[in-house]
Amino acid sequence: MKRIYLDYAATTPTHPEVMKAMLPYFTDSFGNPSSIHSFGQEASDAIEKARNQVAALIGAKSEEIVFTGSGTEADNFAVKGVALPRHDKGNHIITSSIEHHAVLETCKFLEKHGFSVTYLPVDGYGMVDPNDVKEAITNRTILISIMHANNEVGTIEPVAEIGNIAREAEIYFHTDAVQVVGHIPVDVDKLNVDLLSISAHKLYGPKGIGVLYIRKGTRVSSFMHGGSQEGGRRASTENVPAIVGLGKAAEIARQEMLEEAQKLTVLRDKLIEGILKGIEHTQLNGHPVMRLPNNVNVSINYVEGESILLNLDLAGICASTGSACSSSDLEPSHILVAMGLPHLQAHGSLRFSSGKWTTEDDINQVLNVLPGIVSKLRAMSPLMKTSR
Ligand code: PLP
Repeated sequence: MKRIYLDYAATTPTHPEVMKAMLPYFTDSFGNPSSIHSFGQEASDAIEKARNQVAALIGAKSEEIVFTGSGTEADNFAVKGVALPRHDKGNHIITSSIEHHAVLETCKFLEKHGFSVTYLPVDGYGMVDPNDVKEAITNRTILISIMHANNEVGTIEPVAEIGNIAREAEIYFHTDAVQVVGHIPVDVDKLNVDLLSISAHKLYGPKGIGVLYIRKGTRVSSFMHGGSQEGGRRASTENVPAIVGLGKAAEIARQEMLEEAQKLTVLRDKLIEGILKGIEHTQLNGHPVMRLPNNVNVSINYVEGESILLNLDLAGICASTGSACSSSDLEPSHILVAMGLPHLQAHGSLRFSSGKWTTEDDINQVLNVLPGIVSKLRAMSPLMKTSR
């Protein structure tokens, strides 16, 4: 049976060209970039090349790119790195209620250490209102952290507008752009961001490598202590093969992103339309237009998303009920709850996220298989029976 992968938002396969670029750095060019001999220099040059490749993808200067161990680490670094050294100047952070756990849990940690956090609400599409950001600012606010696009429902937030508000108020602005970079154009100057998080495994690079973009002049305290790697901003011997892989992935994304986004938008809209028209009692979650090109999130009422997922998996189709990180607990996702979805819809939510190798045939196959699965499950569903 051919397997169809529609969970690119959880992780992407590593691009073959990325693999090819990485391999020599496990074998012949294995040097420690801090060594002054030629092996070390080779590794160090490779890192600088990757730094340039990543910088070019987001309109940054190469010295503003700091490699981290993941997107989660980049988020932790940004939030703690800004907050901790400013504690005596201010202790207030503004974020949204639909952030990834990497930001939310970091904020919760800081709350235990004397910080106060405003978790802004979102509308029914999962959109943050920039006016809410403006109104939440106090003279103790030191950081605003609002994600670029949501990982579960794909809504693209008004980041440039929020960045403008932050800049006028002279408050640092961080955005978690893990789901965005490499998929739609990102320019750190147009977005008015001071800090931006990236994760390689969401853009056809390897797992376990990320980036925190830190605008020149932004004061962020180190998060890892030890050696003086990454200009003293992130201690630890660099993961050279992974950094090289991320650099290559960024270079490929720059070349292919626009065309890919166009293709994926067509497939996305076909899948949304097919599900909403072909299966009754279904709704689209997230914004209809301000939406990532590869994200389809729908609620299928009267059935559990997990049951659909297992049946899809048996049919060779791999999707998700939410972010991979939260799919092991059966609580409705905090994102759908924050959007105000009733229990019935939140529990029947499914995310299909497509990518570089998704074809129209894959989408057709979902549309062929899904209605049958839903009818079968609804026939057994006590929820469906009580609704009649
Ligand atoms: N932020 C967002 C929006 C994500 O979707 C993810 C991963 O799912 C992360 C952060 C964490 O990235 P990583 O898996 O590299 O730690």
